[in-house]
Amino acid sequence: MKIAVLPGDGIGPEVTREALRVLDALDLGIEREEALVGGAAYHATGHPLPPATLALAEASDGVLFGAVGDPACDALERHLRPEQAILGLRKALTLFANLRPAKVFAGLESHSALRPEVAGAIDLLIVRELNGDVYFGEKGFRTTASGEREGWDMMSYNESEVRRIAHAGFRAAQGRSKRLCSVDKANVLETSQLWRDVVIEVAREYPDVALEHMYVDNAAMQLVKSPGQFDVVVTGNLFGDILSDLASMCVGSIGLLASASLGARQTAHGTFGLYEPIHGSAPDIAGKGLANPMATILSAAMLLRHSLGLADAADRIEAAVARTLADGVLGRDLGGSAGTTEIGDAVLARL
Ligand code: ATP
Ligand code: MG
Repeated sequence: MKIAVLPGDGIGPEVTREALRVLDALDLGIEREEALVGGAAYHATGHPLPPATLALAEASDGVLFGAVGDPACDALERHLRPEQAILGLRKALTLFANLRPAKVFAGLESHSALRPEVAGAIDLLIVRELNGDVYFGEKGFRTTASGEREGWDMMSYNESEVRRIAHAGFRAAQGRSKRLCSVDKANVLETSQLWRDVVIEVAREYPDVALEHMYVDNAAMQLVKSPGQFDVVVTGNLFGDILSDLASMCVGSIGLLASASLGARQTAHGTFGLYEPIHGSAPDIAGKGLANPMATILSAAMLLRHSLGLADAADRIEAAVARTLADGVLGRDLGGSAGTTEIGDAVLARL
């Protein structure tokens, strides 16, 4: 088992260091290799995603990614900017399934944008398709004969794209409480009708999972009204983009939100994927030891679960993080005063 570690920029290296300490403490026999990415890679090599970094990612079972973003690169041409590294990795590694858990840990209900008694029930996972939909369709802009400006973006999905994300959704549901909610807009959109048809076909291979369908407008409403009803939600790129940010605000703490982006390749014990906190490089607090590393620690747990088949170790990490929070060790993002290494130490002590 080998993982690639790409700490990146800003707080990326600080939070990644704590996640690696947690992995080391579990002594799982994982080989790992680090490489430059983002602004750090640009400054050293002239490219935000050097070929050696991509090759390392491709040769690994999973990638632990910190964050990219560097104000010193703001004036560069777009293809040289740090953010291009993550876009390039997603594309080159065909990362088509984005998994974002949203959970309100015990004691943190008041940080949610929702009422505490509603927030406390939030423990869901959004599985968002990442390579298709309206973002990648044909786009256009013209000025019509009457002089009016007009723009368009083609929304399309083919059945193999829907099928592979549906499998990702069902597999994720099997690893949780075996309930899957597929979100679409099948009453209006042709892409959504295909989506629904294919999801129903794929469901036959997962008789143990209870499938339900919901229109996206209703799903947005239900996420705010009674989020406790959801376990795994699978949806397209556009709807998932919006719903996953909505779910993040329902949790309310940027330093706790992890993510996985899974590819098509199967590893010896799972599915290849890239794992990163949903926060960015946070240049305002970089280098000060203030960042909460929990989102990255939880991302490392997802790596163990999905790419390395080490679900027990992942459970232990998640439990240690939950205990740390319940014991009141809170980072600045949660109104506390614990620093990066202090939080890392506290999680290690509870492992
Ligand atoms: P990027 O351009 O890389 O996305 P950003 O400036 O948008 O960076 P984010 O990382 O998205 O910054 O963070 C937004 C805000 O949340 C910042 O004020 C940042 O300091 C804070 N923040 C982000 N991550 C953490 C963290 N892990 N711990 C504490 N505060 C954080
Ligand atoms: Mg940002």
